[in-house]
Amino acid sequence: MVITEIFKSIQGESTRAGLPCIFVRLTGCNLRCVWCDTAYAFHGGTKMTVEQVVARVEELSEGKVRLVEITGGEPLLQDEVFPLAEKLLAMGYSVLVETSGERAIGRLPREVIKIVDVKCPDSGEADTFRIENLDALADGDEVKFVIASRRDYEFARAFTARHDLDGRVRQVLFSPVFEDPEGKWPGLNPRELAEWILADGLPVRLGLQLHKFIWDAATKGV
Ligand code: SF4
Repeated sequence: MVITEIFKSIQGESTRAGLPCIFVRLTGCNLRCVWCDTAYAFHGGTKMTVEQVVARVEELSEGKVRLVEITGGEPLLQDEVFPLAEKLLAMGYSVLVETSGERAIGRLPREVIKIVDVKCPDSGEADTFRIENLDALADGDEVKFVIASRRDYEFARAFTARHDLDGRVRQVLFSPVFEDPEGKWPGLNPRELAEWILADGLPVRLGLQLHKFIWDAATKGV
């Protein structure tokens, strides 16, 4: 498989935000979200076997960190992601997989916690979510919307209601786009998003990317 980076950090998003976590970032993505903050994972990378990836996770874990997130890029583009997830689960890790939901998520082992990032209109990749994936979501999974504008918010609100996401998954997350440190795209003020959520009384969690507050927003490998 082709890997961009493997590192240990604080989980920045999802209901596991704040927990120590080992991240395995797979190279390559078939989407091009305008606000993508991991474009460095589109190309390059290092070829590694599943065993080598697991060995590096074990090294970073030091027997203490038991949470692993497989991310990208889009991790489901590489077939080795399935044996990797199985192996990590068998070793007793809790495994999160973050995906756009453009590929079928049903092939992942049931115990994997899927964090599905449904693309909103302002991402430039709207309508890429594979609707059959709704049936593959389990109680422990999470659905995330990264929101850049009021238009995105209204899309996410309608999608959540139409598909009863709150009843299907552990958590629906609404996260504001974080401003690009080089000014390539603007951010959405979290306060604005918080006020919209409160005004509508939505059953969703406001998600902030903790790592961008702890470290500089341009820092990789955190
Ligand atoms: S799906 Fe994720 S990695 Fe791919 S372009 Fe969008 S934000 Fe970036």
